[in-house]
Amino acid sequence: MMNLVLLGPPGAGKGTQAARIVEKYAIPHISTGDIFRKNIKEGTELGKKAQEYMNKGELVPDSLVIEIALDRLNEDDCKVGFLLDGFPRTVEQAEALDAYLADKGQQVDKVLDMDVKKEILMERLTGRRVCKDCGATYNVVGMPPKKEGVCDVCGGELYQRADDTAETVANRIEVYNSQTKPLIDYYEKAGNIVHMDGSIGYEELFAEIVKLLGE
Ligand code: AMP
Repeated sequence: MMNLVLLGPPGAGKGTQAARIVEKYAIPHISTGDIFRKNIKEGTELGKKAQEYMNKGELVPDSLVIEIALDRLNEDDCKVGFLLDGFPRTVEQAEALDAYLADKGQQVDKVLDMDVKKEILMERLTGRRVCKDCGATYNVVGMPPKKEGVCDVCGGELYQRADDTAETVANRIEVYNSQTKPLIDYYEKAGNIVHMDGSIGYEELFAEIVKLLGE
């Protein structure tokens, strides 16, 4: 049983590490951003509401996010633990998560805080490409696919997220600094946060994480 939270600015490489962590430790990957994008694609009411905020790089209101995140955590596959990626993003969300877990006699076991300098974030985010079919992520600079525009994993077409444009990216970093960074203090007080340097290579960082979580 392992309840994990990935914390860090947009572009820190949370999604990339998440994919590897959940594979190694066989826990579900819960990304509230992915849940919203799926809803947008399917044209649901939730998707319509979320899209307004996402396109501007703003946070979706707590009331909406907390409900969908806790609903997801309530599903059976989370009984073995989970990896949260992109949730919580505000102190209010973190409190709601703690209350939900406390009710079950559980807690957040580890918060992996991935820090990366702003210049690197800009480069990573504007260079990010995502597979339309399987969601695998690439970067035109640091981690390009073997063939431009085509997913190595499934052959799907790669696209740029609507919120990965330079203007929205700058806003998302601002929003992170003002609304999400206070979570570092929150988890510092709880004593379950570990700081990692997200600017080292993806492989090195994953090796650090395995060292921390155990083989
Ligand atoms: P992500 O894929 O985690 O970068 O999330 C993309 C966008 O979805 C964010 O910029 C927010 O607009 C929205 N979003 C995802 N997770 C949350 C959250 N926990 N709280 C508020 N908004 C969120």
